[in-house]
Amino acid sequence: MKILITGCSGYIGSCLSNYLKIKGKIYFLDKDRPKSFTNIKKNFFKCNLNNLKNTERVIKKIRPDVVIHLAAKSTVNHKIKKSSYILNNIKATKNLIKAMNKFDVNKIIFSSTAAVYNENKKLIKENDYLKPISNYGKTKLFAEKEIIKNKKINYIILRFFNVAGSLTNSSIGEFHNPETHLIPISVFSALKNKSINIFGSNYKTSDGTCIRDYVHVKDICSAIEKSIFYFKKKKSLVVNIGSGKGTSNRRMLVTLSKITKKKVKISFLKKRKGDQAILVCSIDKAKKILKWKPRYSKIENILKDEISWSNFLIKKNINRKFLSVQK
Ligand code: UDP
Repeated sequence: MKILITGCSGYIGSCLSNYLKIKGKIYFLDKDRPKSFTNIKKNFFKCNLNNLKNTERVIKKIRPDVVIHLAAKSTVNHKIKKSSYILNNIKATKNLIKAMNKFDVNKIIFSSTAAVYNENKKLIKENDYLKPISNYGKTKLFAEKEIIKNKKINYIILRFFNVAGSLTNSSIGEFHNPETHLIPISVFSALKNKSINIFGSNYKTSDGTCIRDYVHVKDICSAIEKSIFYFKKKKSLVVNIGSGKGTSNRRMLVTLSKITKKKVKISFLKKRKGDQAILVCSIDKAKKILKWKPRYSKIENILKDEISWSNFLIKKNINRKFLSVQK
């Protein structure tokens, strides 16, 4: 079997590239070179999916059995223009699909997101109302539709909730520049005794802060691995991947404080635009159909692994840039 991973230099891509053990060959594609700490040394194609010709050239050369499409613009940052999400999330996906169609490649696993849903007081199910608020969510939903409308392609759309944590054995983790996600910012800041900005303290939740469904990146990798084998059933699927449990921003920080034995300093700022109060999913479908379940996604476990990863970066003197102020 030949597998192509797009976005291999990103967070999930670099973790998956180290995690995946399959019989066959794995090829890697990204517009940026892989980070030095990953084990991607060969079969790498430097290619921007916005360039149709180059994309077609790679697909023609590899003719993969399955494409795992992770390449995307995923961080939420006021400096990122809508056009950048359109280019990286919609145009790139359209080009990839065109190239796949041209060379009869007909299986895709697509990383979608919780951001396609509207806020929901109960556990979110796959057939719940889709109403993204952010440009990220809107462009990912558009990309989903582009994939689904293709009659020749079998797809598995994985709607990832809040992915966090790292591969502890091989020291690979989240590294956005700048970083906007709560867990890496909080852990790194706590280890450096810096204060953490929390956006909003008067949401209609039990403690006034937002609630998210954190899922360990190792569980994300295992969901992708299960998806590869699900194609044997020759059916398409849209499925939530999360822990099925909610953690509030405040509770996450209390847990972090317990684990690090440090007093975590918090500054409460006003709400961040586009944030939903609660996003927690039902994982019944993933359990039943994909035969997947989260094994590493307890918040304590996620934080411990993020601490190891942050300590690795600190030891290597690699600094992180944060964008933790909402505009
Ligand atoms: N958040 C925060 N401070 C930060 C970054 C994020 O309070 O510096 C909050 C954000 O408002 C949301 C939660 O943390 O309530 C998760 O945000 P993140 O950006 O990690 O993921 P999202 O849910 O937006 O995909």
